[in-house]
Amino acid sequence: MLIKEFVKLGKENLAKEVEGFKRKPHLLIVQANENPASDAYIRGKIKDAEEIGAKATLLRFPVTITEDELVEAIQEANVNPEYDGIIVQLPLPRHISEAKIKITVSPEKDVDGFHPLGSFDPCTPKGIIDYLESEGFAFEGKNAVVLGRSEIVGKPMARLLLKRSCNVTVLHSKTSEQDKAFYIGHADLIVVAIGREGFLDTRFSYKPDAFVVDVGINRGEDGKLHGDAIPNLPVAKQTPVPGGVGLLTRFALMENLIRAYKKQ
Ligand code: NAP
Repeated sequence: MLIKEFVKLGKENLAKEVEGFKRKPHLLIVQANENPASDAYIRGKIKDAEEIGAKATLLRFPVTITEDELVEAIQEANVNPEYDGIIVQLPLPRHISEAKIKITVSPEKDVDGFHPLGSFDPCTPKGIIDYLESEGFAFEGKNAVVLGRSEIVGKPMARLLLKRSCNVTVLHSKTSEQDKAFYIGHADLIVVAIGREGFLDTRFSYKPDAFVVDVGINRGEDGKLHGDAIPNLPVAKQTPVPGGVGLLTRFALMENLIRAYKKQ
C-alpha cells in the first residue's frame, strides 16, 4: 500500500476510536524557536490532531526564555491533567540543553518518545516499523542496514529492528566507502537517515528484492525536497520523498498520543 493510503486509513481508524472517548485527547506543543520549518511542522501536527478528533495547543515562548523558565513550564504541564501528551519542538535556542529538556517531559506524556525511561517509541522509527509490518516485511534474520546514528532516528531505528531479530548494521560518517558498499550490497532492508541528497545512488549495487526506506529531507538547489536516495533505485520497494517517512512520523505521533490518553 502507498504510504499516503496507509496513513489515511490509519487516521480514519484513530478518528473512529476517538469518537468513543469521553473527552478529546490533548497534545501540548511547546515551542521556543522562530524557525519557519518548525512552524510548518507544528501546523502539520495541529492539523493531524484535528483530523483524528483530538486537540492540540501550542505554547509558544520567545527565544530569550531561560532554561529554568522552560523547565518550569514543562513541569507544570507534566502535572496538568488536561494534557495527555507533551512535545517540545526542536531546535531549541543554543543556551538551552536539549538533553535536559528531553528528560524534563514526564515519561508518561513524552509522546515524541525521547525520554530514556518512557514507554513510547520515537515517532520516525516507530512509523517505519509499522509501515514495514503492514507491507509484510518479515524482519527475522533479515540483513538490515541503518545509515546514520542520530539519537532521534538512526539509534532507535537500529534498536527496534534488533528487537524484531534483524541482523542490524549501523553505518556512519566514519565507515569507509568500501565497507558501505559491502553492507549495502548485502542488505534486505536499508534505512537511510544521513541528510545527504541522493547519497544512495547507482554507484552502489543492491539486492533486487531490497526495501529502501528514505528518511532524508534535503532542500535541493531546485528549491524542492529530496531524499537521501535518488528515485527509482534498482530495488523491489523504495519510499518516496516527499510523501514518505515524513507522513509516517506524523501518524506515529498521533498513535502515541492516543496511547498516552488511554494510559491516563
Ligand atoms: P543527524 O543528527 O544530522 O545525523 C546524521 C547521521 O548521518 C550521523 O550519524 C552521521 O554520522 C551520518 N552521516 C553523515 N554523513 C554520512 C555519510 N556520508 N555516510 C554515512 N553516514 C553519514 O541527522 P538526523 O536528525 O538523523 O536526520 C537525518 C536526515 O533525516 C535529515 O535529512 C533529516 O532532515 C531527516 N529526518 C527526517 C524525518 C522524517 O520524519 N522524515 C525525521 C527526522 C529526520 P556521524 O554520527 O559519524 O556524524
